[in-house]
Amino acid sequence: MKSKLLLAAALAALAGTSMAAQAAELQYKPPPITNKEWETPFPGFKIVGNMYYVGTYDLGCYLIDTGAGLILINSGADGSYPLIKANIEKLGFKTSDIKIITSTHGHGDHVGDLAAFQKDAPAAKTYMNFRDAPTIESGGNIDYRRPEGRGFYPYHPVKVDVRTKPGDHIKLGNTDLTLHQAYGHTPGATSFTFTVQDGGRNYNVLIVNMNGINAGVKLLGSPGYPTIVEDFASTLKEQATYTPDLWVSSHAGQFNLHQVYKPGDPYNPARFGDLAAYKLKIANATKAYEKQLAEERAAKAK
Ligand SMILES: [Zn+2]
Repeated sequence: MKSKLLLAAALAALAGTSMAAQAAELQYKPPPITNKEWETPFPGFKIVGNMYYVGTYDLGCYLIDTGAGLILINSGADGSYPLIKANIEKLGFKTSDIKIITSTHGHGDHVGDLAAFQKDAPAAKTYMNFRDAPTIESGGNIDYRRPEGRGFYPYHPVKVDVRTKPGDHIKLGNTDLTLHQAYGHTPGATSFTFTVQDGGRNYNVLIVNMNGINAGVKLLGSPGYPTIVEDFASTLKEQATYTPDLWVSSHAGQFNLHQVYKPGDPYNPARFGDLAAYKLKIANATKAYEKQLAEERAAKAK
């Protein structure tokens, strides 16, 4: 009995060592940023009440001042950290006061610098949907498109403290985020809703992860993501029912940021309240999904 236990312990130790050795061999090799808008600075500003835009020109990153610490949603791509940090500081906050870190989905342009923020706020807890958590913990080495691994880290691995699922809440101070599935774009993509009080009224705010299909992704040929077709369909159906007072998204272009806001414009939360524009975005995403699915099915039938 004792020897069996010892053997099990020895095997576990061996497995641990070889995994660590394997991990140590991987090199950090961030891909070059081809979209200049991702790394173009954009001044941070107040969206509504205690919620701020702190992202780059195109990468939506959000800061919520809960009264009991800060929540950071998205970090931008690898290399965005100094821009996001500067935005946070210009708004009068400190990255060391971040208590909760999370993201809309596990792609490098939203989680690429989460690890840098974890260094600034070592006590912060990082929350990530259980389906995308392994991807960011692997530094983007493994994801559904490359389940066997890329063999390098596109970004620094991110330690996940809490694995979430749709329906969960993230609570801090005056803020209660409800998590919603945005499955499809990635297996664990997530949207957030919460209430913000400002000027004597309550706003129902949505940070939506738009359900776009990345170039090259096959709905009928993604063995690393067997439920991709059903996930896109159920997310798009659910997102079509949302009626937020205010809404923003993972990319500036996805919520028309630069059409509705220019740096220096006066504070006006209502600029993010165009429900018809939201409905149109969801309708267009649905059409694109249905079109691609029909084309793939037709090609397969040939
Ligand atoms: Zn993405």
